[in-house]
Amino acid sequence: MSEREAYFWLLGGFAGLGVLVFCLLLRFAAPYGRHARPGWGPVLPPRWAWAAMEWPAPVGMAAWFALGGRLDAVSVAFLVLWETHYVHRAFVYPFLIRPGSHGVPLAVVLAGLAFNAVNSYLNGCWLFTLSDPCPASWLGDPRFVAGTVVFVTGLAVNWHADHRLRSLRGPGRTDYRVPRGGLFELVVAPNYLGEWVEWVGWAVLTWSWPGAVFALWTFANLAPRAVAHRRWLRERFPEESGNRKALIPFLL
Ligand code: NDP
Repeated sequence: MSEREAYFWLLGGFAGLGVLVFCLLLRFAAPYGRHARPGWGPVLPPRWAWAAMEWPAPVGMAAWFALGGRLDAVSVAFLVLWETHYVHRAFVYPFLIRPGSHGVPLAVVLAGLAFNAVNSYLNGCWLFTLSDPCPASWLGDPRFVAGTVVFVTGLAVNWHADHRLRSLRGPGRTDYRVPRGGLFELVVAPNYLGEWVEWVGWAVLTWSWPGAVFALWTFANLAPRAVAHRRWLRERFPEESGNRKALIPFLL
């Protein structure tokens, strides 16, 4: 079996696992944050848990870039966009989390760590080693341009919504409040919507199968969780929850 064939078997298996995870998460919300439940092992402080889960994504992608030795403009653009999200997610976001936030069980941290290691391998190895190199003209291709606009829009929505959620808790508080205004009037989890839009943009701008599988996995992780958030909000704040959707305005 050639390296490419082995790669595509792994990618297909990873996509299948994403579908399975989607079905499981529809029944059982991942046990962290407001859905935390006992029985999932020791609980790590959220800041260290997030950094521990996410570091393989920025480090792995940088390693594949270095190993591939492709220093062309398109490869650099792919790296810069990926790292813009993941350097923030692994090394900045964890330290912005409010001290009152819930911890993350070890089982969830290990699952996140494994996901990020495999996902950064699938994207990095493909873009910087296995795929045919992209000509510089790709930077002017409508798919790259439109995908980058979508990616940056999703990133802005994700960062802004995460900031708004953090701001709901004053120092020393651990309670939840109903976020208001902007996209929060339309969906319960605009931060998840932004994240999903971002990786759809990534799939388009790289025009790659691993990019598409990553977008599928992001939906598989975040759509059931947004639905669980909405259910929780309706039970906890029946008067204030309104008619907002879970993830996609007017649809889901
Ligand atoms: P949540 O929206 O559940 O929580 C984000 C932070 O805000 C937590 O610290 C949470 O505290 C706090 N918070 C949320 N809602 C409220 C509220 N109503 N009142 C007060 N504080 C609140 O997001 P996640 O923790 O699930 O995800 C964090 C980031 O990681 C997001 O940007 C998400 O898109 C991304 N992510 C990406 C995934 C992927 O597959 N690509 C998978 C999972 C997350 P507490 O912890 O106490 O609830």
